Amino acid sequence: MKKLNICIILFYSLLVTISGNLSLIAEEDYSDVQIKTIKLTDSIYMLMGKGGNIGVCVGDDGVFLIDDQFAPLTDKIISSVKKISDKDIRFVINTHWHFDHVGGNENLGNNGAVIIAHENVRTRMSTDQFVKFFNKKVPASPKIALPVITFKEQIKFYLNGDEIETLHVSNAHTDGDAIIYFKNSNVIHTGDTYFSGMYPFIDVTSNGSINGVILAANKILSLADDKTKIIPGHGPLSNKAKFQKYTEMLTSIRDEVSKQVKDGKTLEQIQKSKPTKNFDADFGNGFINPDAFVQILYSDLSR
Ligand SMILES: [Zn+2]
Repeated sequence: MKKLNICIILFYSLLVTISGNLSLIAEEDYSDVQIKTIKLTDSIYMLMGKGGNIGVCVGDDGVFLIDDQFAPLTDKIISSVKKISDKDIRFVINTHWHFDHVGGNENLGNNGAVIIAHENVRTRMSTDQFVKFFNKKVPASPKIALPVITFKEQIKFYLNGDEIETLHVSNAHTDGDAIIYFKNSNVIHTGDTYFSGMYPFIDVTSNGSINGVILAANKILSLADDKTKIIPGHGPLSNKAKFQKYTEMLTSIRDEVSKQVKDGKTLEQIQKSKPTKNFDADFGNGFINPDAFVQILYSDLSR
């Protein structure tokens, strides 16, 4: 996988922390990042740069953006959006609080965009955070970067000829996830409840859980049909058939790890039994390797 994302960066930060050299993280370079624009429908596009995949909805009512990657990329993101619409970025919705999805909020907020997210996104962005799996501290964001409209269960937008259903799925990748369903265009942005072609990172310290990710996956499956275009939080554009396989993978591995946790097995014993082996060829080559995925599930299911 070429595109760096939060998890790779967090993982590097873990290595860096171990090696005792924290300066590497500050030297993150975005100058070579190019934003790739993928057209899904006449009004919906996906932008891939570095960090979480961006969704863009354009039309007469203005630009509606889903997530905004990292602050140093804002100018590149804006110029990519300008190539598909002459309207301003009016709304930005964050799928969750991780900094590879909200890093552009401060710049876009300063430009006048209205930022919207689940209420737990605002809560977490307002205070310092710590992600245990990566031993990573994330400082609170400035006020202008915070969502100014929050929701608990769902919020709906009527824009650009579409009905945009934004649904909270609880305790999935984090405790503030939203999935965004463009009803008329038949497109779903899953946020980080879905990493296409990879084992997902689940942020257990932000109250994420494998059971919540599976519930979110089943919700997404209930909305999708064979023509739905699925924008994952990370990885390439996807569809229902691929998403179905991802859901089966999650369920199968969750069941096996859960059984072994109940039997009193240690993390090491569970990892040795290779509960992911049937899926490693399809999902094991991302940045969360099979042992790391089992470790995440163990830390969740043994709570
Ligand atoms: Zn994330």
